[in-house]
Amino acid sequence: MNNIPKISTVCVYCGSRMGNKSHYQNQAHKLGALIAQAKLSLVYGAGSIGLMGVVARSARDNGSNVIGIIPDHLDDIEITQNGLSELHITDDMHQRKKMMFERSDAFIVLPGGLGTLDETLEMMTWAQLSLHRKPIILVNTDGYWSPLIQLVKHVVDDGFASPENAELLTVVDTPEAAIEFIQAYNDDKAI
Ligand code: AMP
Repeated sequence: MNNIPKISTVCVYCGSRMGNKSHYQNQAHKLGALIAQAKLSLVYGAGSIGLMGVVARSARDNGSNVIGIIPDHLDDIEITQNGLSELHITDDMHQRKKMMFERSDAFIVLPGGLGTLDETLEMMTWAQLSLHRKPIILVNTDGYWSPLIQLVKHVVDDGFASPENAELLTVVDTPEAAIEFIQAYNDDKAI
């Protein structure tokens, strides 16, 4: 057994909007249910709006432990979800992002906007700096994230990041594949 812990808590980064394809909501709902079925805890930004609200309610309603972390100033905008197992109010975004990082063993990224991009790239750059080795699993629903995958490849191809940095993202097509990756990862740790 190596000294990297098993994944018991996953952080989900995703949109505070629904996006304009119903598939995005369906996949968010599916992911929440799968997180609960896999007996994983969920960490997320505590809001009730957009895909993040969908994931959280689905995980909560299927019995998952759901930990929400929100800065004080976003309470009115992202409308804090009720019924969370834990709710943490932070002073600012930096504290929120740090706490979300610290409380999680892995990150799953669904479609989202600029906030989701920021959170994902930050976890990638922290991994690049060897500040963590937590998996970052990108769910490329309907190819939504293909431009990001291409951009990372371009950055590597043009010599601004090493080829290993292209491996920082584990790309999957579905929520099912994201959870299968986590289960295989945990099985590997048990050997
Ligand atoms: P978005 O993907 O833009 O819909 O945002 C998703 C989540 O990221 C929301 O909970 C936002 O509060 C959060 N967010 C927005 N901007 C930032 C930022 N600069 N850094 C980190 N998170 C952010």
